[in-house]
Amino acid sequence: MKNMDAEIGVIGGSGFYSMIKKPVIMHDSNAYGEPSDSIAIGSLENRKVAFLARHSKNHTIPPHKVNYRANIEALSNLGAKRIIATNAVGSLREDYMPGDILFFDQFVNMTHGRNDTFFDEDYVVHVSSADPYCEQMRKTASSVAKSMKIRYHDSGTVVVVNGPRFSTRAESKYYGAQGFDVINMTQYPEVMLAREKQICYLGIGIVTDYDAGIEGRKDIGKVNSKDVEATFANSMATVKALVAGTIRELPQKRACSCGSALENAALTKK
Ligand SMILES: [Zn+2]
Repeated sequence: MKNMDAEIGVIGGSGFYSMIKKPVIMHDSNAYGEPSDSIAIGSLENRKVAFLARHSKNHTIPPHKVNYRANIEALSNLGAKRIIATNAVGSLREDYMPGDILFFDQFVNMTHGRNDTFFDEDYVVHVSSADPYCEQMRKTASSVAKSMKIRYHDSGTVVVVNGPRFSTRAESKYYGAQGFDVINMTQYPEVMLAREKQICYLGIGIVTDYDAGIEGRKDIGKVNSKDVEATFANSMATVKALVAGTIRELPQKRACSCGSALENAALTKK
């Protein structure tokens, strides 16, 4: 394997860069522009891994300005067949508590104006998004979380909003009433762009807050950025161990349908 290859991509906060010793640093633009930051490539749990900070290392890129296509293209170009993505999420239900971990199995997209496909010219491709998250990776991560004896949920629907503002009380109540479990600003289009590249994608949510609060609970207040940051920082050691454990336990061979997502998807003959 070459220095600039990676089997697994990790997208998350800048804290992950320190997980690999002596990384090779790559900073290249691609056909879709500049990724959020340089990519650190190295070995973790004897697997070749590439790390990318979604909002840049200094957290300067807001969710609606992230170049999701450049990020996924960069990891795809490195040869990544799997992506593990970590995300801060707000809870829309009382039993998904701050500090809890969940593995998304569905999303609802409420964002707008984002470049959300690699197939926007010359030919028509309709990729299925019925099951957007990799089942094999979700099962592996859930079993790792179970063995770590941490509070986790093995599924969850994330509603993705454009941001950068947080929800109104009415929006938060509405999303909760729809049966959505958590809210976030970055899962879309990241997960679908990975699917278009036939890359397996695991979305890990770290519950940091209760969005606009919980109706009738004066003790559960509305979210603010400082609290999100503090809860996320407290969870960082757990999340790092979870990511490392998942990388260790992932079978080499993919046993899912992510790798054949483009079969029967194209309407234009090439
Ligand atoms: Zn998969």
